[in-house]
This record gives sequence, C-alpha cells and structure tokens, in this order.
Amino acid sequence: MNRDELIFHIDALLKEEWIDGLNSSPAGEKALKLKELENTCFECKRCRLYKTAKNLVFYDGNPNSSIVFVGEAPGADEDEQGKPFVGRAGRLLTATIENLGYTRNDVYICNILKHRPPENRNPLPDEIEACSPYLIEQLYIIKPKIIVALGNFSSKFILSSDEGITKLRGIMKTSPLGYNVMPTFHPAAILRNPNLLSELETDIKNAFALM
Ligand code: URA
Repeated sequence: MNRDELIFHIDALLKEEWIDGLNSSPAGEKALKLKELENTCFECKRCRLYKTAKNLVFYDGNPNSSIVFVGEAPGADEDEQGKPFVGRAGRLLTATIENLGYTRNDVYICNILKHRPPENRNPLPDEIEACSPYLIEQLYIIKPKIIVALGNFSSKFILSSDEGITKLRGIMKTSPLGYNVMPTFHPAAILRNPNLLSELETDIKNAFALM
C-alpha cells in the first residue's frame, strides 16, 4: 500500500467509525437522518424556487432541542447566509428568545419552504405542497415537545386550520399529527406593529414552559 492508499484507507476507517459512533447514539442517529434529509432538499427540484434561490435554508440551532420554531420561508438575508431567521425579523426573534433566558442554540429553527420565494412574495400553494413533506419529516425526526408556529402560513399549515393568526395566536393546540403547537405572530408582523410585541413574548414564554 503506498502512502496515498494508506491515507485513503485510514480516512475510510475513521469515517466508518464516525458513522458507527453516530449510529450508536439516539442524538447521532437523529443528526444523520437530518443530514440525509438536508441532502435530499439540497437536490430538490419539486418546485421552481431552487432556480432563483442562492442557498438552501434548512435549519439553525439544536436538533436535540424539544422546541421547534417554524416560520414561513427564507428572505434575502436567510438566502444569502443559508440560515433561517437571520435578518431583521430574525434578530427580533433571537432577542425575544434571549430575553427569556435562552439562546438560539437551545432551540431548533426552520421554515415551511426551504428556498426563498423571489422578492419575498408569499409562498404559493403548490410550493407549500411540494416542500412541506420535508418539514413533516424534519419534525418527525426531531420529535419536539412543542412547536412555535410563527405567523399565518406556518400556523395554518401546522394546525391544518383555516383560521387567521389573530384568532389562533396564544392558544396552545394539538396538531393533526399530534404535536403541541403554540401559534403566534410572525416577528415581521411585530416589526410592522410593535404594539404586538408583548403577545409574541407571552406566547413564546408559554411555549418554553412546556419544554
Ligand atoms: N421569515 C420567515 O418566515 N423565515 C425566515 O427564515 C425569515 C423570515
């Protein structure tokens, strides 16, 4: 075996051991499944959005968290950085989480759509239909104790409800898939109407209480 072959062999062994290690713990198994799902999303052409998006926005935070925040779709900053909720609305969400004594690393953050709709337009029904199975799988792997549904699109989709967010918000419900869901205002709505901030804080606080 020459040197290059030896290095290749050692690399392969290390990789096998790493994967064995991952498989042997529940957290590792979860990470592996989420990575596989992320790779599938990376290749996804089920709707038009992969053509205009710069990056896949799969998640941020901690896959072992028992609380998951679900938004609607990445915006320009998220598309640029490949991470959800990192723009203005994201900074408000982060500050709200931090004011309650947690960090982004204590929670898992994702969206219904994994690619940015151009010009930040609303998700189209066929895009939600195409992309939502990924969210469903993501939640199935994570098995959160509580989901915070941010805004109209997320709340209506997760709760399979026709009601608007103003009616839904603040009332914990069980989703058709059996998750505890706290619907609340989207942080972008708070930026437009800061009077709603205390509702967002209360809802997130009540959701953390269930963790
Ligand atoms: N709005 C969302 O719904 N998701 C993001 O990731 C950013 C803004």
